[in-house]
Amino acid sequence: MYAKMIIVPTPQLFIIFEKKNIKNFHNNIHMITNKKIILVTGGSGLVGNGIKYVSDLYNEKYEFVFTSSKQCDLTIMKDTVEMFKKYNPNYVIHLAACVGGLFKNMNNKVEMLEKNLMINYNVVKCAHDYKVEKLIACLSTCIFPDKEVTYPIDESMLHNGAPHFSNDAYAYAKRMLEIHCRCYKEKYGDNFTCIIPTNIYGPNDNFDLENGHVLPALIHKCFLAKQKDDDFIIRGTGKPLRQFIFSYDLAKIIMIIFEKNINENVIISVPEEHEISIGDIGKIIADNFDYGDRVVFDSTYSDGQYKKTVGIEKLKKILDENFQFTNIKDGIKISIDWFLCNYTPVIMKKDE
Ligand code: NAP
Ligand code: GDP
Repeated sequence: MYAKMIIVPTPQLFIIFEKKNIKNFHNNIHMITNKKIILVTGGSGLVGNGIKYVSDLYNEKYEFVFTSSKQCDLTIMKDTVEMFKKYNPNYVIHLAACVGGLFKNMNNKVEMLEKNLMINYNVVKCAHDYKVEKLIACLSTCIFPDKEVTYPIDESMLHNGAPHFSNDAYAYAKRMLEIHCRCYKEKYGDNFTCIIPTNIYGPNDNFDLENGHVLPALIHKCFLAKQKDDDFIIRGTGKPLRQFIFSYDLAKIIMIIFEKNINENVIISVPEEHEISIGDIGKIIADNFDYGDRVVFDSTYSDGQYKKTVGIEKLKKILDENFQFTNIKDGIKISIDWFLCNYTPVIMKKDE
């Protein structure tokens, strides 16, 4: 039914396919490049693909190496050491993590804590041991305190109180990442820094119905509801508020922070006034599928944290005043187009 809606593949899809074909090149990387090497962990994920998309602007200066768990399981120190020996990166953008939406976080706390502690410990330690000149590590705004904060939240509040109970395992692992980076910075002067992005969405997102974040999960659910002529169910009351950043905007900003050598923690988000309710996100998605009259809220499900509104005063000082964030309606349209283009080859298998 959706075959007619499939758009011409966007340039980023071609980029991704090209980069996947450079596997052998990795084995000889130091023999064939004089450029400085940026190792991107989590290179196959939502944000990693955003970095791939913008990396072409930087290809003359840097050699990007994108890795996933298939090349190296970062929970295993021996393998992580091998990877650092193999690529000997000058810089690391550390995105790899065990990631998921509210329900994955609530139902898999042991995994969220243990895997993230291990991945982060191994990467930060190797970044120090292998004398990486700059490490940018990724936190999340959902790790801020739930109650002991004033809004808008800023970077100084990270450790002020307990995170929301629904994702405390993930949050404490991420907070340890921040402390680990800070300790190396204080004791050895390592150039290790953390970025703190808000909710992210875009092409290559995780569209899993149960484990995905709200936006990709709802795109998938609305698509299936329309196929089956069912109601489109949004979990919770729809009242919680979130700030959503498009993955390519985030990737552009990460590279700006990288190039400007910012060495303090920075929140990366759309401005406060772009905060939007989950209900409104659901409606935008439903309108894209022309299915707005079948939206139903199921408040037997958790709402999670009501809000985690962040301010971007620090980020504004880093960005050019003309920096434009992608409008949420445009970003959702691009994400839905990507989903429809990739449903058959990538996503449908998981529905069966
Ligand atoms: P994602 O799409 O789920 O991708 C996760 C990446 O980590 C994949 O490349 C995955 O490789 C890799 N990975 C997972 N376990 C690994 C392991 N044991 N060893 C090596 N690599 C492993 O995640 P994302 O949304 O791009 O998130 C990127 C970063 O942003 C994370 O640090 C996350 O905590 C943070 N963040 C995300 C959001 C959000 O809304 N998505 C919001 C704030 C912060 P495979 O493909 O091989 O599994
Ligand atoms: P969070 O921003 O870290 O809380 O994570 P999510 O991206 O998973 O967003 C959770 C919010 O979206 C909560 O208010 C949920 O009740 C709501 N929500 C509604 N439907 C869904 C769904 O299908 N999946 C997810 N993950 N969240 C949903």
